[in-house]
Amino acid sequence: MADTIKALRNITVIGAGTMGGGIATLCLMHGYTVTLYDPEAAALNKAQARIQKRNEDLSHLTLTQDLSDSVQNSDYVIEAAPEKLELKQRIFRQVDEVAPAHAVLATNTSELSVTAIAGVTRRPDKVIGMHWFNPPERMQLIEIVRALQTSDETLGLTKALSEKLGKTTVVVKDAQGFITTRALTALLGEAMRMLEENIASPEDIDTAIKLGLNHPMGPLELADYVGLDTMLLIADSMTEAHGERFRATQTLRKLVEAGRLGRKSGQGFYTYHQDA
Ligand code: NAD
Repeated sequence: MADTIKALRNITVIGAGTMGGGIATLCLMHGYTVTLYDPEAAALNKAQARIQKRNEDLSHLTLTQDLSDSVQNSDYVIEAAPEKLELKQRIFRQVDEVAPAHAVLATNTSELSVTAIAGVTRRPDKVIGMHWFNPPERMQLIEIVRALQTSDETLGLTKALSEKLGKTTVVVKDAQGFITTRALTALLGEAMRMLEENIASPEDIDTAIKLGLNHPMGPLELADYVGLDTMLLIADSMTEAHGERFRATQTLRKLVEAGRLGRKSGQGFYTYHQDA
């Protein structure tokens, strides 16, 4: 039983992309045994390289392309697959069938309904939102999202795990976009509209927000960092929930159609060199 933080040893991370790779790295850095699942071998290889860069001991890491295998000994599962509700529900249904009964199932969704994800499992009280920030190794916050069904025990364990991983937590109700994605989508969307209205260059928009509003990164730079495909999925989903104020610009849609996804593809609002 790993319903206390002391007994929690084995963490499974589902999805080895921008977020999953970083979450796995941080969990290893804090002494957990980590199983990392992704359907794509290339994503697993990239995550492994990211972990090796940190000189982390790989003996506590298992990489797998088999979802059921990845969760069968897990105490705590963190899902970081693409931001699509049906996909996440499919993963949670499958994981729920195989993972030990005590295991908590957390989703790193940026804004989807954690309640709707919990609802497809037979352990909805053990499902919770654990919203990390990019890069997970460095960013201070975990926004914990309490679904309608989440128990006090699951909330307590998730807070304790987050703190063991060196993070500060806030708890928010399951309202689409939570605190941070609502604010972020509004800011990034407005910066993209300014760009479309041609009122300033991307560099000047970013410099203005950085130096004038004291943000560490400009909004267009940040959108490239998050990944423009992820930003588009979020904007579409937020528009469905909250209306026009979150609608994605044509520029964002075209960049994604062109495969210009930001840093991860080498080009987005800006162009990046391979090792940037
Ligand atoms: P990503 O595209 O970088 O990575 C997603 C990974 O999921 C890829 O490696 C892909 O191969 C894998 N994948 C595809 N289908 C899968 C499946 N069926 N099962 C498991 N894995 C699958 O995306 P990301 O930016 O890491 O985002 C992942 C989640 O984290 C999303 O829900 C996103 O909203 C959330 N999130 C992202 C950020 C960010 O800054 N990028 C921040 C916080 C939360």
